[in-house]
Amino acid sequence: MPLCNLCKFVHLQKKSMITKIIAEDLILRAKNLLHHSDDVVIVSHQGPDGDALGSSLAMADFLTQQGKNVQVMYPDSFPGFLDWMPGANNALVYEKDPEACESFLCKADIIVCLDFNQLKRIGSLGKKIEQSKAKKLVFDHHPGPDQFADVQISYPQFASTSEIVFRYICRSGCFDEMTLACAECVYTGMMTDTGAFTYNSNNEEMYFIISQLIRKGIDKDDIYNKVFNNYSADRMSLMGFVLNHGMKVMPEYHTAVMSLSLQDLKDYNYQVGDTEGFVNLPLSIDGIFFSVFFREDTKKIKISFRSRGTFPTNRIASDLFGGGGHLNASGGEFYGSMEDALRLLEDSLPKYIF
Ligand code: 5GP
Ligand code: MN
Repeated sequence: MPLCNLCKFVHLQKKSMITKIIAEDLILRAKNLLHHSDDVVIVSHQGPDGDALGSSLAMADFLTQQGKNVQVMYPDSFPGFLDWMPGANNALVYEKDPEACESFLCKADIIVCLDFNQLKRIGSLGKKIEQSKAKKLVFDHHPGPDQFADVQISYPQFASTSEIVFRYICRSGCFDEMTLACAECVYTGMMTDTGAFTYNSNNEEMYFIISQLIRKGIDKDDIYNKVFNNYSADRMSLMGFVLNHGMKVMPEYHTAVMSLSLQDLKDYNYQVGDTEGFVNLPLSIDGIFFSVFFREDTKKIKISFRSRGTFPTNRIASDLFGGGGHLNASGGEFYGSMEDALRLLEDSLPKYIF
């Protein structure tokens, strides 16, 4: 019998439930670990981004609602355009306040690690966590995890760790208890790790989840504005500078390379997070599918890689710059001069791109 319009709608709604991708056994083991813990430390990676904050603050909100004593900490500072996020101002930064972080780590029953899967991704905080007797629980979406946790919920097929946190909360039977603050954090992480749903974002369940976050009351357009339309004029000028004076386009390798020295950054009053997104810009050039951005830091050169299509940036990141990440977005580090870092990449391009 043909379906009426309303029936078709209901039928569609039933089909758009979320698939149980995370193994039931992992959900139960994570739940059990958390059930037996009162003091919780939540950690995310160095150079925290929207998904690092989104997943960690969403989890912090969820566990606080469950009556846990929760402390969030990051290895170093997060960008100013994320400081509106619910709970961000209560987070500690290890680089700035090591004693306070260590005292929370000492009394933690469990350390929940979000959006990273190798202790080297959290710098010197990694040693402290390795030495801690607390249980360790990982939620992450990067390939190639190290085994350092008691329970590891590691699924590279998800575009963000924030989406994994949402799925975990639902699978724990707690969707109804999810607060608006938690939903805002989940949405921010999902949005930033997909470039506002412009890459890695072709999964229909992602949009079902967004519909559920809207049901919770998030204002997605407002969140977009807070994250992407919240920069300083200096940052805009720095972007102009790097495009005009710091970019080399190599059409023969479908590659563009950008770099900024410490002096360049100083000239434009650089603040943490100001170069976020620069690495994506050259991908809008016709024929360019690989983009690399080198930013000089006080002790190292930080490198970001992005690609369009199937070119695996994480291979170059790991082969040449001790890093890693996803196929289309990865990062690494170089200890030496900018000149040497640029030469290493340029000399290696023929090996990777034919
Ligand atoms: P971004 O370029 O935005 O700093 O990082 C892009 C992606 O690469 C993120 O998923 C991030 O976690 C990962 N990533 C960035 N830097 C490093 C690094 O030094 N080592 C590893 N293993 N991953 C990195
Ligand atoms: Mn992420």
